[in-house]
Amino acid sequence: MGEQEQRLAELRAELGRRCMYVSSRANIRYLTGFTGSAGHLLVTPDSATLFTDGRYRSQARRQTSGLEVVISDGDPQIALARGIAQQGLRRVEFEPYSLPYAVYHYLRAELADCHLDPARPLVEDLRMVKSPGEIEAIKASVTLNSQVFDEVLERSSPDWSEARLAAELEFGMRRLGAEGAAFPTIVASGSHGALPHAEPRSQPVQRGALTVVDQGAILAGYCSDMTRMVAWGEPDATQLALFGGVLEAQAAAVDAVRPGVECRSVHRRARQVLSKFTVAGVRLDNAFRHSTGHGLGLEIHEQPRVAARQETLLREGMAITVEPGAYLDGCAGARVEDVVVVTRQGCEVLTTTSRDLRVLEA
Ligand code: ZN
Ligand code: ZN
Repeated sequence: MGEQEQRLAELRAELGRRCMYVSSRANIRYLTGFTGSAGHLLVTPDSATLFTDGRYRSQARRQTSGLEVVISDGDPQIALARGIAQQGLRRVEFEPYSLPYAVYHYLRAELADCHLDPARPLVEDLRMVKSPGEIEAIKASVTLNSQVFDEVLERSSPDWSEARLAAELEFGMRRLGAEGAAFPTIVASGSHGALPHAEPRSQPVQRGALTVVDQGAILAGYCSDMTRMVAWGEPDATQLALFGGVLEAQAAAVDAVRPGVECRSVHRRARQVLSKFTVAGVRLDNAFRHSTGHGLGLEIHEQPRVAARQETLLREGMAITVEPGAYLDGCAGARVEDVVVVTRQGCEVLTTTSRDLRVLEA
């Protein structure tokens, strides 16, 4: 049995006698191997059917095994509704976060005898713990991402705009074989870096200021995610103190990652370390405005979330980011982010790029 068939079997074991309609593209890929953009997967106790359209006729058959592929001449949702009706299913669970309202509405209208109920995130739960093959894929993506960072910074210039640097990074990912960036690359210099999700601007990076570089690639379907701090010319003492606090918090949070630990205690550890630092009159835990990390894999943000109220226990094989930050309005921001995999004893940091501030010639 192939890896995908095994996953389908695991989902079936969770479902028991229930039926599930899977609409999330990442979940369909995870369960079947199918990478097309249009697909609906129907899983019942004794069958699995992928409904797609003519563009994917040969691709769907090539990429999948152990399931039925139905090619629709029109919109695949028509074939899906027909399939549910033909099998006489009375109750089907759907994925509330990925099912467009229009498709839901269509199915409701077409299937008067079938109840549609929201499903629990069963596939997302399965996806939390990565197989050895998936960990290798994430590692390859992380390695490529780090190579691009080194290669681009090496030849970068402080005359480049934030947008140019972001574009060079994303082009570098494609050039090294990635499908693309996992998310819009963040390059944010000086006070702009105080926005955790800043959009790169067309003006040059600020000399002598902390610059946040947050980038991730998709390689063979799997995401990477890394944040490093760069400066063209030495930043002032305030900015160095901000970076120092974040760096210490990040290292402590990584050290807290091990099986059996609640996600929220990794977050708490980062906050605890940040609270020891006061920079420009601000205690750094009060300048930390987001969660400490997130799972990643086929998607850039997956379960588990490493955040304040998350009681999920870390398990061997989970791949998560650890990325505390601190943001001083009008001054600067700092964040350091690695990808780590939970191991039997603790965790393995997949990101090999040095966490130190990279000071380049101004
Ligand atoms: Zn990131
Ligand atoms: Zn991230």
